[in-house]
Amino acid sequence: RQHMARGLPKQKPLAGVKQIVVVASGKGGVGKSTTAVNLALGLSANDPSKTGNPELTEKNLMRPLMNFGIPCMSMGFLVEEAAPIVWRGLMVMSAIEKLLRQVDWGHLDYLVIDMPPGTGDVQLTITQNVPIAGAVIVSTPQDIALLDARRGAEMFRKVNVPVLGLVQNMSVFQCPNCQHQTHIFGADGARELARTLGVEVLGDIPLHLNIREMSDRGQPVVVSSPDSPEAEAYRKVASAV
Ligand code: ADP
Repeated sequence: RQHMARGLPKQKPLAGVKQIVVVASGKGGVGKSTTAVNLALGLSANDPSKTGNPELTEKNLMRPLMNFGIPCMSMGFLVEEAAPIVWRGLMVMSAIEKLLRQVDWGHLDYLVIDMPPGTGDVQLTITQNVPIAGAVIVSTPQDIALLDARRGAEMFRKVNVPVLGLVQNMSVFQCPNCQHQTHIFGADGARELARTLGVEVLGDIPLHLNIREMSDRGQPVVVSSPDSPEAEAYRKVASAV
């Protein structure tokens, strides 16, 4: 309400898009983007790829790049590789407007938005701009990550975006040599936070070398190792959303 009073645009659906799901986290580096990508893949049917820079359609909209059958748009496609992106005031609004509305999304059942970490201007502007079906919050079981995840959840509640649940990432590492399991960041923190918030745990993703290596190669595990337990863990999140 406060933001409406400041003159932010009212929520307006995106043409052709049925549901918008945001993937958020309090802290950075907890696996939010990896979850967003594998969630989107888990929700999609696969088609051919198209890479390069976005072209314009007849309607002067950007044609999104295709990766594993998923139309993708990112600020990173629009700026030079080394250019810093400084998000300030009105630029935030116009960049978000561009990424959401100047794109020919075609017909989508779900649009998954990989949010920046934290609770700032970008998150609020997006929630004011488009109707959001729900937020998935990613956290490791580490106290400091959970504290920030909780802030994230409270922010979504304040702006009436339903929190669909928490994804607990990196809760367990299994030694590939001796199979011993170690809880590097703690075991059940996100589960406890979910209970406190009264939301579901949508899934538990193990800390796994394959996830890091495949993601770095641009081959998310849901498509590159579909039969692995880690891919199954992401598909479980997709089916719970
Ligand atoms: P965020 O979006 O929260 O900043 P990323 O998804 O970019 O985090 O993940 C940070 C790094 O950790 C990346 O290199 C990613 O490949 C890796 N990573 C994320 N989740 C896992 C996991 N479950 N196991 C191993 N590596 C992971």
